[in-house]
Amino acid sequence: MARVLDVPTVLTVQVPKESMTLPDPRRRILRKLFDGTSPGLRTSGVVCLQISTLISMWVSTQSAEASLIPFSKLKISPFHTELEPEKIRVRVSEGLAAPKIRGLDLQLYSGTDASGHRALASSDRLSEWQFHCAGGGVQAKNSTSHQLIRVQGPLSLESPAGFLSLGQRPYRETLIIHPNGSSCEIVNRVDIEKYLDGLVNAEFSSKWSEEAVAAQVIAARTYAYHQIQAMRGPKSARAAGQKASHFDVDSTTRDQVYDGSYREDYRASRSVSRTRGVILKASFNSNLPIKAFYHSTCGGQTELPSQVWGGSHAGFKRSVKCPYCAQSPKAHWELDYKPAEITMLLFQGLKAQGARPFLPRGSTLPIDWISFLSQGSLSRFQVHSLDTSGRANQIAASWKWENRTLDLILPAVKVRDWFGATQMKSTAIQITPEYRAHSGSDLNQVVNFRIAGKGFGHGVGLCQWGAKTMGEQGFKTSDILKLYYPDAILGKAW
Ligand SMILES: [Zn+2]
Repeated sequence: MARVLDVPTVLTVQVPKESMTLPDPRRRILRKLFDGTSPGLRTSGVVCLQISTLISMWVSTQSAEASLIPFSKLKISPFHTELEPEKIRVRVSEGLAAPKIRGLDLQLYSGTDASGHRALASSDRLSEWQFHCAGGGVQAKNSTSHQLIRVQGPLSLESPAGFLSLGQRPYRETLIIHPNGSSCEIVNRVDIEKYLDGLVNAEFSSKWSEEAVAAQVIAARTYAYHQIQAMRGPKSARAAGQKASHFDVDSTTRDQVYDGSYREDYRASRSVSRTRGVILKASFNSNLPIKAFYHSTCGGQTELPSQVWGGSHAGFKRSVKCPYCAQSPKAHWELDYKPAEITMLLFQGLKAQGARPFLPRGSTLPIDWISFLSQGSLSRFQVHSLDTSGRANQIAASWKWENRTLDLILPAVKVRDWFGATQMKSTAIQITPEYRAHSGSDLNQVVNFRIAGKGFGHGVGLCQWGAKTMGEQGFKTSDILKLYYPDAILGKAW
């Protein structure tokens, strides 16, 4: 792992244009150098390498009769490329009935950006527009002059003079209004580095140690860049069944929490600019960012994404021990549920997902399974199997009804969703039944299930409380990233 923030071990290398037409085998070596870099990098002749890779390539080519390009011809500079950061499209509102946007010297365009368009309207100094969406189009009305504009499809706004204000929150660059039935969906298209400036204090805190903030910023940049590629790239880059979308990330916990530029501060901006363009990727031969998940508190051991969402995820091969998040207020927690409450949550969950209940292997579902849940009593609710990180993988539940028993095996991640992910804070749980204390006719009746858990969140990737503590203990950004993403390496996207 490159210690990018101490000594610049990651370099950008500009290869002279004439070298691109070198005879073999030198061209082969050059191709190897550029393999996995994006088309933009290839045409600009800039590649991002670790010094160790550069030296080993140089040594190996020296021992062969063909040398690569003389070092003197390579323009090498730490951390600098001519590449512009990507723009990210953040959905800041799913649907508003009549949003108002204020700003200085506002310019309105038909479509999603200003390129190639003449402004539909420009208003001097401070102005406000109100929008209504219907029939696949957007109507804009100037609150002062009452000027009216209608477009089919999306409409975009820019303020060359400053911020755009939506719902008291400032946004940089462009706001795009997409008609969605009778409501307006709003997307902020913004330089990814500026997006990160705003994200720091929404997702965590710029007051953490600088090394911990930088680690979290790199994870957030990587996640964002991954989503840009997943949502826009060729079909091959998208997850199965994933359609190209008019936004890349949501501004909620579904992706990363972002409320515009509202909470930017100098500490946040300093950490973002110190790590400009630095991302995590799966290998030197790939320039693709990993999906750098992170979460609040792992509770002692991180989780693999395949255990939570299935499928394979580049750059995640190992779950790791984290001794650093014990100070988190969510390190340990307990919940008590009555059997009827659990039955209700599971019943609603099973019904909402429209799926048949999950049965133990080899058993069949009785036709009256709903009667078991609606009229029977929950006699068993326990962890059935653990995954490799020690979290609950499956939970077994049994109901007794009219002298019969129904057994279901439920995926623990689903059960967590059904209980509410902020209630059942993780799947690192132990479940203990508590029986009726008095002697009576039914000694074995469970009156309460105690769920004792560790951590908060899915547990994949960086543990925020762990990273915070590591920073306080003097660990470097690269140490933190190496612990939580042991199978990824650092690279430079721009
Ligand atoms: Zn942790």
